[in-house]
Amino acid sequence: MYCVKCGVELADTENKCPLCGTSVYHPDIAREKAEPTYPAYVKGREKMRPQGVLFILTILCLMPIAITLFCDLYFGNGLTWAGYPIGGIILFYSIFILPSWFYRPNPVIFCPISFGVLGVFLLYVNFQTEGDWFLTFAFPILVFVALLVCTVVTLLRYTRRGRLYIAGGTFIAVGVLCVVIEFFMNITFLDRMIFDFFWSIIPLIACFLAGMMLIIIAIARPLRESLKKRFFI
Ligand SMILES: [Zn+2]
Repeated sequence: MYCVKCGVELADTENKCPLCGTSVYHPDIAREKAEPTYPAYVKGREKMRPQGVLFILTILCLMPIAITLFCDLYFGNGLTWAGYPIGGIILFYSIFILPSWFYRPNPVIFCPISFGVLGVFLLYVNFQTEGDWFLTFAFPILVFVALLVCTVVTLLRYTRRGRLYIAGGTFIAVGVLCVVIEFFMNITFLDRMIFDFFWSIIPLIACFLAGMMLIIIAIARPLRESLKKRFFI
């Protein structure tokens, strides 16, 4: 036997190298008698949490909020235009920066939060501009999109298989979304009959066909295998 570290010759009875103190592993001696050749405690990899960067980003978001608030209140007559940039900054913060404060942020939780903040912002813009488009246009479409995105995000996170079904279903839902958008546009903005669909039928048909194609590929296993071979997916 030779020491793995310094190469000195060792007697079979030695547990440690007499020269450098390195533990000796004897393949012939039972493991209990020899000292383990690895350290008893392995220090776990430290989790990187970019708290400092997030803190700076938070300050960078708070600064323009404070400045716009000050300018609007000081030079204008009360709160007039500052709500738009402040709302935009809050929206940006809640979508991109807020989740990063958490270790492994769960999109299933942060998706509805983002849509909620967006809804409140749109409601504010609606009131501020004295519009009447929130309840009959923005809100129903926002709810539809939020439900669609949250469902897809939840399915992608908690199911391992069936991605083709999810993609197919998403295509069909986007097609339906076009019809929903035109329906609420007819109600809110246009002087038309509410079921007078003009453009949304075309994307509906296209999305429906694409979605059904994906679902059929997902159902038909031989077809899927041959496509995989042909396109090297
Ligand atoms: Zn040694």
